Amino acid sequence: METRVRFAPSPTGYVHIGSLRTALYNYLFAKANKGKYILRIEDTDQTRLVEGALENLIHSLEWAGLQHDEGVFIENGNIVQKGDCGPYIQSERLHIYKQYIQTLIDKGYAYPCFCSKERLEEVRENQKSEGKTPMYDRHCLHLSKEEVLNRINNGEEHVIRLKVPNNREIKFRDAVRGEISIHSSEIDDQVLIKSDGFPTYHFAVVVDDHLMGISHVVRGEEWLTSTPKQAVLYEYYGWDIPEFVHLPTVLNKDKKKLSKRQGDVSVSDYIAKGYLAEGLVNYLALVGWSPKENKELFTLEELIEEFSFDRVSSAGGVFDIDKLNWINAHYIKKADLDLLFSLARPHIVQRGLMTEDEIESNKEWVKTIISVLRDKISHVSEITLHMDIFFGDEVAFESEEVIETLQQNHVGRLLNAFKAKLSEVETVDSVFAGGILGELKNETGAKGKALFMPVRAAVTGQLHGPDLETVFMILGKELLLKRIDYVMKILS
Ligand code: GLU
Repeated sequence: METRVRFAPSPTGYVHIGSLRTALYNYLFAKANKGKYILRIEDTDQTRLVEGALENLIHSLEWAGLQHDEGVFIENGNIVQKGDCGPYIQSERLHIYKQYIQTLIDKGYAYPCFCSKERLEEVRENQKSEGKTPMYDRHCLHLSKEEVLNRINNGEEHVIRLKVPNNREIKFRDAVRGEISIHSSEIDDQVLIKSDGFPTYHFAVVVDDHLMGISHVVRGEEWLTSTPKQAVLYEYYGWDIPEFVHLPTVLNKDKKKLSKRQGDVSVSDYIAKGYLAEGLVNYLALVGWSPKENKELFTLEELIEEFSFDRVSSAGGVFDIDKLNWINAHYIKKADLDLLFSLARPHIVQRGLMTEDEIESNKEWVKTIISVLRDKISHVSEITLHMDIFFGDEVAFESEEVIETLQQNHVGRLLNAFKAKLSEVETVDSVFAGGILGELKNETGAKGKALFMPVRAAVTGQLHGPDLETVFMILGKELLLKRIDYVMKILS
């Protein structure tokens, strides 16, 4: 049987990183089994739809490199659908649900319910006060055929409910949790079709998974409690039930569900901060899954090779930002410089270091800075924090120690010699930058720390930092002279 999996989000806002992980595990499993990975849009709850969410969703998946084989795509700015099992947007499948619900009603497996919101609320309150789990009391289950027909013909508002079988164990298998069994008395007569004619999630998901030939349903564990109702539907229709794989929730360090309050949870937040797709995907793969060997860095290809559901844990996966940063830093060190440059641009502008035009006309200069600083950062937006030292005629002294370093007796002589050497050249090129410390040593007798610490302190305001030769070249003659003058003035 062909492996067919689907990622089936509802476009109700931003893409949670937990959802990206669900998409990733679906993708990896499909690729490893030479199967198909489908993107289906579950938009049956029309009240929760958010403008632009679908586009954002597809963009996030594409950014991550998790290309689907069938379903909903964006091409030249238009939403298009591809594959033999379409439409892949649930709101375009209403005619299909209509047909399938009728089969259930005809067989007595589903029934219309006319109960008002108020009545349902009252029943729920009574059950609660008696210490029972709130459930529909099947008030409309035994209405006569005539009454049902009359009330429908009179246009009375109603829903269609699932008739859960009486007094039975409902069983299904989950790849992570094994056999699961639940007594039917604990399952509510779930609404399948709402009064607006739209299906509920529970109904649409089963019809679609079946019609789309889904072999494995891989989704977050928050859907585990819905699965028994879905299992009943598979049984009523006489359809083969897919393999279920419920993934552990992504948790924060306090073992609570990762939510917006504790920081970034949406994929767009990470994109905006300049995380790399390889880094986020590599890290997310490890949240809830552990590889056979003690290894943490994986390309997408390696993940396809290694990934399996039997190493997915049933306990929640803890999201550890420090580990993500460590992994992302690894990919930043290897990334294409042009990519880092384009990612860094908006952050440089935002921090007010340069305008877009200034960046455009000093591309190579900015790239040199990025290449010097890339080893220090875990995501691209951080680069601006380290860039400050390359801007401004005056340096900011990082600490008291910097000032003490510059107050040593020989420093005036050293800086004067540096100024003199600078005034002898047109530009600070690699020959000058490479030789200047040696020349200052010969001329002033200062060597080792006594030589390079004050020089670094004078031109950057710091005692440690990137390679000095590169710093000289990035700053250039003019800025070096201005900074040395500034320091000499302050110290005099
Ligand atoms: N539409 C559900 C969601 O938004 C999908 C649940 C499922 O995969 O069955 O997550």
